Amino acid sequence: MISEKVQRIGASPTLKISAKAKAMKAEGIDVIDLSVGEPDFTTPENVKEAGIKAIRDNFTKYTESDGILALRKAIAKRLKDDYGVEYAPKQIIVSAGAKASLFHLVQALVDEGEEVVIPAPFWVTYPECVNLAKGRPVIVPTREEDGFLLTPDALKASISPATKAVILNNPCNPTGAAYAKDQLLALAEVLKGEDVYVIADEIYASLVYDNFKFTSFAALGEDVKKKTILVNGVSKSYSMTGWRIGFAAGPAEVIDGMSKIQSHTTSNACSIAQKASLEAYDGPQYEVQKMVAEFQRRRNYCLMRLAAVPGLSCFKPQGAFYLFPNVKSFYDKEANGAKIRNSYGMAYYLLKEARVAIVPGDAFGADDYIRLSYATSMANLEKSMDRMVEALARLKTAKKVQRVALSNAVTRVRKAVPVETIADVRMRDALAAEMEGHLGYDSRYEWTGRIGGAVLQLRTNVAHLNDFWIENFPPAPGDADVRPHGVLYAVDGIAGREPRAFYHEGTQTGVLVNTDLYGPLRSLALGLAMDISMRSGGASGAVRGMSVDIDGRGLILVGPPGTKKTELFFELLADPRFKLHSNDLVFVEAAGSRATAENVERKLYLPTSTVELDPRLAPLFDRSKCENVVLHKEDCQDLECQRADDCRLDRGSAYCYKAAKEAHALLDPAWLGGPAAAVKRTDLRWIVLLRNDATSPAVVELAKEEALRTLEAGEAAGARRALSGGKPQPYYNPHLMGTTPEKIEAQRAFFGRLLGAARCLLFNSGVAGADKLKEIASSGR
Ligand code: PMP
Repeated sequence: MISEKVQRIGASPTLKISAKAKAMKAEGIDVIDLSVGEPDFTTPENVKEAGIKAIRDNFTKYTESDGILALRKAIAKRLKDDYGVEYAPKQIIVSAGAKASLFHLVQALVDEGEEVVIPAPFWVTYPECVNLAKGRPVIVPTREEDGFLLTPDALKASISPATKAVILNNPCNPTGAAYAKDQLLALAEVLKGEDVYVIADEIYASLVYDNFKFTSFAALGEDVKKKTILVNGVSKSYSMTGWRIGFAAGPAEVIDGMSKIQSHTTSNACSIAQKASLEAYDGPQYEVQKMVAEFQRRRNYCLMRLAAVPGLSCFKPQGAFYLFPNVKSFYDKEANGAKIRNSYGMAYYLLKEARVAIVPGDAFGADDYIRLSYATSMANLEKSMDRMVEALARLKTAKKVQRVALSNAVTRVRKAVPVETIADVRMRDALAAEMEGHLGYDSRYEWTGRIGGAVLQLRTNVAHLNDFWIENFPPAPGDADVRPHGVLYAVDGIAGREPRAFYHEGTQTGVLVNTDLYGPLRSLALGLAMDISMRSGGASGAVRGMSVDIDGRGLILVGPPGTKKTELFFELLADPRFKLHSNDLVFVEAAGSRATAENVERKLYLPTSTVELDPRLAPLFDRSKCENVVLHKEDCQDLECQRADDCRLDRGSAYCYKAAKEAHALLDPAWLGGPAAAVKRTDLRWIVLLRNDATSPAVVELAKEEALRTLEAGEAAGARRALSGGKPQPYYNPHLMGTTPEKIEAQRAFFGRLLGAARCLLFNSGVAGADKLKEIASSGR
């Protein structure tokens, strides 16, 4: 498992979207990529020549870790000439891109728990940089009305004793907003006397329009400069993104700290690229001016086109090469039945319908917006604006149609509860009395069901549990008149009690306290039913596994998590020769050479995430009773998927079946392939014990004694222990309640009988797949 801090961060969304656009292009789809953060111009010729010369001169070895002196001197000169700030070469460090400078800088400055103020909308990398340093990003929203600029008041309010630094991106990616000198001075005034660094990311400093006068934060005065670290580079100004040269300039002790880190990470930036960058900074600058003029023309064009779109407004930026239009008025509109709910939905819509790739504003902390880059040709911009305008015009106010009305119960408790076995019958009686006391006559549900040969009565005050119980177990014959073998209480809302389960074997009583989740009730019921059936002697018992039938012969897959049980099960079911029997537990009567296995449940209690294995399931779940299906993105537990740019919930789906592990559906087995594709009973012939490793043989037949030993140990060699909760489950059966010597003896007797009728195969899913199983089962032996 990777570290928690890395699990929490997402990969760069801009890079992901660009990758998607590239993949679509590779498929021959004419996508225009407005997501990129780099100029479309070529690197100036003189700069390229300098790089080529460096290679010819064999300048291809390690350089000083901080960068060659000539380049640092050239940077110092440019900072002085352009912004009027003076730095000695030792106050400058050259890195493999401004990104590397920023990363090393934040690592050098920030200790665990220290805060870094980041105005939003922000460049996506800032918060993750801080997270990786175990610092705390403090996001301060700015307002479009304030020109997306951080106000002195907002800055003041964000400073705490834990504040280590403020990141000021001027001009800003993604808004293009730029701070004028007096605005910067007002911010500096707030920071006066505070022990807070300013990380001034000025990578877009040369790309400013309408004669905007750029001021570097370090130019505000000597005191300000002492606490400022400038970050800049050649990527944007000289169209050199791939050369990977950036730098930081600041107080010597901070640069020294960064230097230490850099000496252990990247060492020096590329020697050839350093020589090229020296030429970029030292050589003629007219290419930059040409590029700025062209960007300004494109910006004006796009602004003009966007201004004509009803419902869309766009801030006029003074720098960088991005537009950040507000698209909120389109949220909740739809086209072709797809509703747009947020910026991810908008990005997805524009990609599919306009074939234009843009970045959702949410990635920058501003969900009402999208970012588009005009760093592409005018021809591309014209085409993409046409397409966007057309696609946006197609969005209509959504009709208030009833979506799939999912029957979905949301439970308070989400985890299995520990089961405590109680031996004392007086304790059982006290518990039963307590439960009866809580079951008011006006909130009591009672239903007697049959689970195999056992008749069990549920007494509960949870409507959802009653509902699922009735749905899943057939009613006992004779219904209310029959005396149940066992009783199950499921009582919720008892103050002061933890969610817990109790079991008293002697009286066959199960008690569930304060849980409203169906899983634990079902498991307790199955455990009770197993005990009841085992009482009738060694011929009856239950096997935990996923079973299929082929021509009347049964095969059951048994194994701990991590052995691909579910995958194999669904692969077998995809073959029409195999019929569905059970997905969890079968009750077996073993007599002589026959072992009749019965599926005792009317429905399959299936994790809804299995839609990933069999897409036929989704429309069936839509019509099934469900539990804990995720309807809102806030409840999604799948962090990886959440960060992807094609989340179903974002795209307008009313729910997501794979967003939570505890989401289940009660599926009618006949719905999956018709009544003929599912059987109630089968003659169990193969017990397939699964393991998953790279080296063991695909199939080994186990002799009876060895099979018994392996089953009892409950852990096939090579199964991933971590996945089975760390501890082996005897007989791979978590529904088994208690493992007293008598119980284990009874299990042994039952499996002994069963192995007289069925073969036990140890199957390595790490080297063999469903085809091998099919071969075994269809051979008929
Ligand atoms: N800062 C900002 C605000 C940026 O937008 C970028 C590039 N997208 C960078 C820094 C990093 O530039 P590089 O690593 O290419 O020098």
